Amino acid sequence: MGMNCPIFFTFVIVVQPFLSTPIEYLKGVGPIRGELLRKELQVNTFGELLSYFPFRYVDRSKFFRIADIREEVAFIQVKAVLRSTQTVGAPRSKRLVATVEDHTGTLDLVWFKGHKWVADKLFPGREYVIFGRPTRFSGRWNIAHPELELASDQPPPLNEILRPFYSSSEKLKAKGLDSRGISKLVSNLLLLDKFYVPETIPGEILQSLKLIQRQEAFVNIHFPGSPDQLKRAQTRLKFEELFFIQLRLIQQKFFRLNKQEGIRFTHIGEYVNRFYSHHLTFELTGAQKRVIKEIRADLGSGKQMNRLLQGDVGSGKTLVALMTMLIALDNGYQACIMAPTEILANQHFQTISTMVKDMGVEVRLLTGSTKSADRKEIQESLIGGDIHFMIGTHALLEEYVRFKNLGLVVIDEQHRFGVAQRAKLWDKNKVTPHVLVMTATPIPRTLAMTLYGDLDASVIDEMPPGRKPVVTRHAFESKRLELFGFLKKKIKEGRQVYIVYPLIKESESMDLKNLMEGYDAVVREFPLPDFAISIVHGQMKPANKDYEMQRFIRKQTQIMVATTVIEVGVDIPNASVMVIENAERFGLSQLHQLRGRVGRGSDQSFCILMTSDKLTNDARKRIQTMVHTTDGFAIAETDLQLRGPGDLEGTQQSGILDLKIADIVKDEKVLKYCRSLALRIIEEDPGLERPENERLNHHLRMIHKYEHNWGLIS
Ligand code: ADP
Ligand code: MG
Repeated sequence: MGMNCPIFFTFVIVVQPFLSTPIEYLKGVGPIRGELLRKELQVNTFGELLSYFPFRYVDRSKFFRIADIREEVAFIQVKAVLRSTQTVGAPRSKRLVATVEDHTGTLDLVWFKGHKWVADKLFPGREYVIFGRPTRFSGRWNIAHPELELASDQPPPLNEILRPFYSSSEKLKAKGLDSRGISKLVSNLLLLDKFYVPETIPGEILQSLKLIQRQEAFVNIHFPGSPDQLKRAQTRLKFEELFFIQLRLIQQKFFRLNKQEGIRFTHIGEYVNRFYSHHLTFELTGAQKRVIKEIRADLGSGKQMNRLLQGDVGSGKTLVALMTMLIALDNGYQACIMAPTEILANQHFQTISTMVKDMGVEVRLLTGSTKSADRKEIQESLIGGDIHFMIGTHALLEEYVRFKNLGLVVIDEQHRFGVAQRAKLWDKNKVTPHVLVMTATPIPRTLAMTLYGDLDASVIDEMPPGRKPVVTRHAFESKRLELFGFLKKKIKEGRQVYIVYPLIKESESMDLKNLMEGYDAVVREFPLPDFAISIVHGQMKPANKDYEMQRFIRKQTQIMVATTVIEVGVDIPNASVMVIENAERFGLSQLHQLRGRVGRGSDQSFCILMTSDKLTNDARKRIQTMVHTTDGFAIAETDLQLRGPGDLEGTQQSGILDLKIADIVKDEKVLKYCRSLALRIIEEDPGLERPENERLNHHLRMIHKYEHNWGLIS
């Protein structure tokens, strides 16, 4: 099975026809709502509706008095009578305002969109139950887009103590499927005679962990009879979600290590030895040596290597990759490196070509901007076996790129690639090549357990000697003159400087404008002939980017104004100052990556985080974390806490953290338990063939059906 397999499923229930019944057949759905549920919520079947969990529960017996609203608390439930409604605002920004009143005060409800179908539900003089987030506006309390229903409406047929809230969309609401509507559908489902949810976990485990039955859990997650029932339903479902992920990851790893054959690299030969004694200009760090040893053991084991190499920016991963590639070469195999950007691929090409100079190693570069004549030539030499090391970008994934005998695939900054992209590479050889994936994004342990649970991991936890930690400062806009003075001083000393601007997809044109304005200001402040400036941004042609980059590398320019395209991998030891503009707009791991571009030489390096005067709490915390620590793992932990796992870089593509109910930060204990239990079970019964594991095996196979089968290629 592939590394980082996407786990899209977890609660996909296909075990029996009842739960895989198309959603439109449920009472209250029909073709139109059915289509909407599919499109808006990816709910296609009865089973998927059952797995569409409420995101919040509200004790429906408790109401807030309007007069008691003091501050912008998260959510309140109010019971109040509708007094009046009116439409206000200019034609383009029309909104509907409804004023409601309880015996203590009044409150405005506001809708900016979808007024028409809301207006139909509003009857002055009637009493409503209103739920939403109160905000203060023009001296009055408002709730924008509240959940709302007539107080007299009957509760649904099932006994409802804690009211479930489901997220919905404007389109669904327009067809009556607001939170309440969805809840009614769920209750229709639960009340069917045929309703039945098969168990997936062996009775023995359920008993020893005091977990409730699966069917009971599904009923109670939607309609909990008490907070305690809710808790037990959540526990059971979280366990199930995390447990099956771990069970599968561990099973995959077991099969990879025990069943799948790998190319055996038995000897260390001329290439490695010559490189080590004549070309390596520095001593390897202890950590590099240890990792190379681990890799050698994998390569000689006769099993396919699938190893994750983690190491902070600047820790010297490229060298480890190169040594591994030389081992492949010594054993008569080709090797390739895939990097996420053209700049980075180019840099690997330069570095590696230089390092193996005069060794008779044929190194070639293939990127999107390789000319078609060259591409053709590369294509032929590659299949003919004349090229030893192929370095490139996504271009390597193209169908026409065929190797004679690819023995090793190195993927740099792996979090930048999607699973499918990576998987294409190992497909390029009859016997699956060894795989080394490298990442500089430190991953907290719980995340690693889930994301890379089927990989072996190595960590370079030591920097090359002589590095000084980067001094990091936070500066407000008002300090810009001082900043420029500082930069001039550093440039006079012979150093080079990066000035980086945010580039965020949604506002690309605005970001570009910012960048260009910044660039103009820098040009005015640092005029020729004393200063020369490079500029690199995402909308430039690759050739132009490369030209600007090369000027900076050759020290023809002293300042590099850029967007985050320089974030990964770029290695210019003479650049010792990193200025990050609008630093408040960057995530922590991105800031850490950017800072890693400096501090690569022996001079003291600096990172200056420029921000506007107003900062949100989160932004302030991020900036402070950067100022106080250079430890990538500490930063990653803070990042995980601030943002939650879903937003961490590299997790979106993988799909693996698309968890429905568990939270790998909050449920760390459950996760760890699941992992150790899964380990124990697979150790005793790898194929899950024993009778007591039948349920597990069955469910795991059901889950598989829903995925692409990466298993064949890694
Ligand atoms: P990473 O890819 O892990 O961010 P690199 O492989 O680009 O780091 O290495 C950063 C710099 O450190 C490079 O200039 C590299 O030549 C240098 N380097 C690597 N290993 C050592 C070492 N053992 N001693 C000194 N310098 C090293
Ligand atoms: Mg690197």
